[in-house]
Amino acid sequence: SGRVKLVRALIVPKTDEKGQSRGAAMLLHDGSSQADLEERVQELHVRATLDGLTKVLNRTEFERIHEEVVKAYLRDGRACSLMICDIDFFKKINDVHGHQAGDEVLINFAAIVKTLCRIGDYVGRFGGEEFVMLCTDCGIQNAVVRAEEVRRKIADTAQPAIGNQCITASFGVTELQPGDTPETMLRRADRALLRAKDEGRNRVIQLGSGMLDEPIVEQKQSWLFWLANSGTEIV
Ligand code: GH3
Ligand code: MG
Ligand code: MG
Repeated sequence: SGRVKLVRALIVPKTDEKGQSRGAAMLLHDGSSQADLEERVQELHVRATLDGLTKVLNRTEFERIHEEVVKAYLRDGRACSLMICDIDFFKKINDVHGHQAGDEVLINFAAIVKTLCRIGDYVGRFGGEEFVMLCTDCGIQNAVVRAEEVRRKIADTAQPAIGNQCITASFGVTELQPGDTPETMLRRADRALLRAKDEGRNRVIQLGSGMLDEPIVEQKQSWLFWLANSGTEIV
């Protein structure tokens, strides 16, 4: 019919009794159902891992990645940082310009955050107008500089959906610390975000000292301990 059709081909070499090559037998299967299935799986994967509106990672997928990163980076003693950002007075945008305009602002916001992320960064939507960025191999100083970069870019970008006004956002930043779990890291970043809101919004606040600044607590034993335990043990 002249249409392109996907096939699966199985090709078997044929030899005569002397082992001489005599061509090949080729079996062709209709492969369209397999191709449809692969496409469908791909589509379902996108739906299961990305936020439908903004196309950044959804909360479930972000939390899965966050957990893996925390485990691996604690084990290797490497730096990674987390930033949480929340759009300021977003409810007012909805109230004044409508929910549709609010949605467009969210799409735009996520796009800006994504354009500023690097290889190894993960951007997710955590809730309504709250976004997270996990920056691997990035200490807190660097993460704060990057959050500032995003904050400034957001504050300087006209939003067509709301009559080209600009919006602002507040940021909480923290770095992974020894003994952290994904939850403790997230809570610290959230506390930093609350402080950013309390201190007037449109700012970046950092909390925590990170991997390198953590004081190393040495367990010093007194000579009394040594005396009491020296007994007959082989040292
Ligand atoms: P703050 O500066 O303290 O963060 O104030 P805020 O107004 O941004 O925060 P608040 O939590 O009071 O309001 C958030 C609003 O976000 C309320 C909710 O209707 C809206 N919202 C949540 N999800 C969506 C969404 O998917 N689309 C739109 N358009 N609005 C959403
Ligand atoms: Mg908000
Ligand atoms: Mg919020």
